[in-house]
Amino acid sequence: MSDTDTTLTGVDLLHNPLHNHGTAFTDEERDSYKLRGLLPPRIFTQERQVQRSLGNYRKKQNDLERYIYLISLEDRNETLFYRLVMDNLEEMMPIIYTPTVGKACQEFAHIFRRPRGLYISAEDKGRVAEVIANWPLDDVEVIVVTDGERILGLGDLGVNGMGIPVGKLSLYTACAGINPAKTLPITLDVGTENEKLLDDPLYIGLPQRRLRGAEYDALVDEFMTAVNERYPNVMVQFEDFANLNAFRLLHKYRNQYCTFNDDIQGTASVTLAGIYSALRLTGGKLGEQKLLFLGAGEAGIGIADLIVSAMMDEGLSEAEARQRCWFVDSRGLVESTRTDLAEHKLHYAHEFAPQPNLLAAVNALKPTGIIGVSGRGQMFTKPIVEAMAALNERPIVFALSNPTANSECTAEEAYTWSEGRAIFASGSPFDPVTYNGKTFVPGQGNNSYIFPGVGLGVVAVKARHVPDEMFMAAARTLAQLVTEEDLAMGRIYPSLKRIREVSVAIGTAVAEVAYQQELARVPRPDNLAEFVQAQMYHPSYK
Ligand code: NAD
Repeated sequence: MSDTDTTLTGVDLLHNPLHNHGTAFTDEERDSYKLRGLLPPRIFTQERQVQRSLGNYRKKQNDLERYIYLISLEDRNETLFYRLVMDNLEEMMPIIYTPTVGKACQEFAHIFRRPRGLYISAEDKGRVAEVIANWPLDDVEVIVVTDGERILGLGDLGVNGMGIPVGKLSLYTACAGINPAKTLPITLDVGTENEKLLDDPLYIGLPQRRLRGAEYDALVDEFMTAVNERYPNVMVQFEDFANLNAFRLLHKYRNQYCTFNDDIQGTASVTLAGIYSALRLTGGKLGEQKLLFLGAGEAGIGIADLIVSAMMDEGLSEAEARQRCWFVDSRGLVESTRTDLAEHKLHYAHEFAPQPNLLAAVNALKPTGIIGVSGRGQMFTKPIVEAMAALNERPIVFALSNPTANSECTAEEAYTWSEGRAIFASGSPFDPVTYNGKTFVPGQGNNSYIFPGVGLGVVAVKARHVPDEMFMAAARTLAQLVTEEDLAMGRIYPSLKRIREVSVAIGTAVAEVAYQQELARVPRPDNLAEFVQAQMYHPSYK
């Protein structure tokens, strides 16, 4: 049987995805667990099961069908699901997570087959602890929670956003070996402002407008208290909350519980890693860079905040470091005469003449890098990339907005317009590009390089909090894993094929920070890397 004990037998066992092995149950197991006759007689190895599943998967006609197939497999046999996904991660990651998961969330109510995870709704106020008590597993270590208000770049999808915590937790397992039995996806259903959903008779959430203000805060507070009471060592990752709540909740809870926000901090870490790698090509120091962001939301401000911390680590003062990060939002350059700025932008409203748009800001500020996190496609135009290439021998051009259609420019555009000199990374994957006889492999600034390893390290040592130093350590570690061969192809992130090795290295670095900051709740092991690695789940039936 698998690593979690069970007393299940017969049909109950076959219907439990954590413990079901399907046709791979051995003769002995079929007798012990009263399965004889409930399965066809021939016994298959897991390898054969993978072969069959992969064949079925590849026969599907489109990505949504592939998503449905994989989720159904996860619902039947999680071990096999993870074996299949882990063996084919590069092929399947865009299906179980972005971009396909976005489509799946849009269709969620219509493709709904069986529930997965926990739904806590506005109607549960006052009894959230009871709802959490209904979760059948006692040892939850990682929770991903959303309120569905800002799902990827798709806006408010209400309770349909459940696809995101489910997908994200699959990546925790596939990339870093977090035991799926110890993960819990949660959606807080606080209503939706999405008219289409409100009008849809098949919508599976509360057909009402969103809770706001004190009522909303009280529900989230009740949730955080209850979940930490039942699972005192749990790490809670906030995911896809709208700006107005994401920053507030992060600041409210980060020093109280073990929690972080991946849209803010995970994105920051993977982008900082990309910049560290880019510096291996350009030769400069982080503190010498001037970075101009397009888009001043969770990703942009999160990245800039972490870069400021990392620059301060190099010896810059906070004021000096902030002066090296600039923003253009939908109304032009963020600068000190503006009176329309949300609070999270104020730190970056430097004294400077107003600039109406990104091109004007590039020409006036002469940045070493531009980072697109606006959620708007085609914003890095030819004149902008050409201006960056005129200002810099190797301009940093990161077009991080998702999905592919929202990328600020394509890989091909970045390489062509900069005559092959741009150091390019994107949020969504792009195929290699050949320019002037040289092939460039664009790096994908995928958060999956970071959050699974962070989770692995935090869970391994039962860290009390997830401080920024963990994300800085994760970024440095990731950049160090980029090989000279990667860099020679223009690739500033390691191959995703190495993701488990990456996660162990990041997990170890994160655990190290936990010991340095006295946040760990287990005694320090002799060999931290081995200890972290030993915690990893393997999808085998043994
Ligand atoms: P967000 O909604 O919090 O912020 C988007 C910001 O862009 C807002 O401040 C908005 O005002 C601004 N904006 C909108 N239109 C603009 C325009 N025309 N010009 C300039 N600014 C404009 O969203 P977010 O979480 O910050 O994410 C932004 C984008 O980054 C999304 O597309 C998301 O997919 C992407 N992202 C990528 C990664 C990654 O690559 N690892 C991680 C997180 C987010």
